[in-house]
Amino acid sequence: DWVDVADVVRAAVDRARKYFPEREIETSIAPDLPLMRGDSVLLGQVLFNLLDNANKYGGEEPISIYARTDSNEIVLSVTDLGKGIPPRDLEQVFEKFFRRGKADGRTPGTGLGLSIAKGFVEAMGGQIKAESPALRRRGTRISMRFPAAKAEISEKDRA
Ligand code: ATP
Ligand code: MG
Repeated sequence: DWVDVADVVRAAVDRARKYFPEREIETSIAPDLPLMRGDSVLLGQVLFNLLDNANKYGGEEPISIYARTDSNEIVLSVTDLGKGIPPRDLEQVFEKFFRRGKADGRTPGTGLGLSIAKGFVEAMGGQIKAESPALRRRGTRISMRFPAAKAEISEKDRA
């Protein structure tokens, strides 16, 4: 299926605003994003999960989400200014049931969100990674890259 990324981002942000209206979300969507091949429902789930994590673990400052193109790829990311993830855990956060500091028992979750997100992203031909400049700055960015569909193909399919 063809996915209109801008629509999916806006819908995920609307949903997040319903679930946690107190948290500010800044959205930046490049104009004329190409379509991508994938599934809007899966992509929406992934984005909502990332926003949910940014809300749970991301401190008080606004969350930002953006969608843009970079050469032949669509890049999507969710960034927060929370306490971040130490370098040794950056890969592990995508493993099933991995939760940092799970002993604190205060923040609910199962540790499945990011492993499911990674599965969905890869099923759509994309890649996902976590970055957290823990020492220099606070915060976490989870970003995804997907191959962009060729414009001619997408126009034909749209019609
Ligand atoms: P679930 O999503 O299944 O409800 P969860 O949020 O604990 O539970 P994941 O979304 O897979 O599980 O995240 C795994 C772990 O990665 C989290 O428990 C948390 O320790 C860490 N993590 C995820 N996102 C962030 C973030 N934005 N900032 C800091 N830590 C994060
Ligand atoms: Mg989660």
